[in-house]
Amino acid sequence: MTGRVVLIGAGPGDPELITVKGARALGEADVVIFDRLVAPALLDLCRPDTQRLYVGKEPGQAAVPQERICSLLVEHAMSGRVVARLKGGDPMVFGRGGEELLACARAGVSCEVIPGITSAVAAPAAAGIPVTHRGSARSFAVVTASTAGTAHAPDAVDLGRVATAVDTLVLLMAAGKLEATCRALIAAGRPSDEPAAIIQWATTPEERSVIATLDELPVLATAAGIGPPATLVVGAVAAIPAETAAIAAPLAKGEPRSGRQGRHSRSSKL
Ligand code: SAH
Repeated sequence: MTGRVVLIGAGPGDPELITVKGARALGEADVVIFDRLVAPALLDLCRPDTQRLYVGKEPGQAAVPQERICSLLVEHAMSGRVVARLKGGDPMVFGRGGEELLACARAGVSCEVIPGITSAVAAPAAAGIPVTHRGSARSFAVVTASTAGTAHAPDAVDLGRVATAVDTLVLLMAAGKLEATCRALIAAGRPSDEPAAIIQWATTPEERSVIATLDELPVLATAAGIGPPATLVVGAVAAIPAETAAIAAPLAKGEPRSGRQGRHSRSSKL
């Protein structure tokens, strides 16, 4: 008897941001194999008898090697079980989902992918930053910051090639390398006074963000104690939260939006 694997995206943090399909698949699993950034409340969607296997990396401890995770998936499926592989965000965005999919294929195990909401888009969105914006951002790229400043590492991202190719840059794994990343981006041609935002623990009660210029962000984020998990957004769109706040402030104080027209629209609509 052969079981199967379901690769499920858990969403960016808030447990309500898993898909309906992902939630249902969790309820059907015999075993759930989960990572560190997965909201603990999601495990409550599993049956009480579902075996729970944690394979995340604890700070200061070695991570479970990826090959071991792949063989766990295959072994459990081959013993006839339905295996839920629960990963943060979307399983295919810097989540090594591709490797797990291939491992299943090589072993002849069926593997279904249930996409999730990636933090690459959700972290900016939660902070009020659209990754595209009519008139100022028609393209965006998602890049890992984990190799910033290590241009000669074998799998280092060529920031020089990506940096100026798109309007909005989203960098994951950004907190630990913020200074090096921002410096590398400026060296690669992004203006030092360009708006940039870093968002930590997006969509959770611990969400915090700092918005500044690309040049000043590292110092301000460090002063604010921003750490992982955090997503960096670089581009004109990072200035939009300041704009919405400026619009909201007079409204909160009971002042009109602007001039006479504003007063009218306030009294009639708000
Ligand atoms: N597959 C995941 C990304 C895994 S890489 C996804 O699609 O979201 C892990 C990185 O994702 C973190 O270093 C951080 O940059 C980002 N991240 C994950 N959760 C986050 C959150 N709640 N807020 C901000 N960034 C987050």
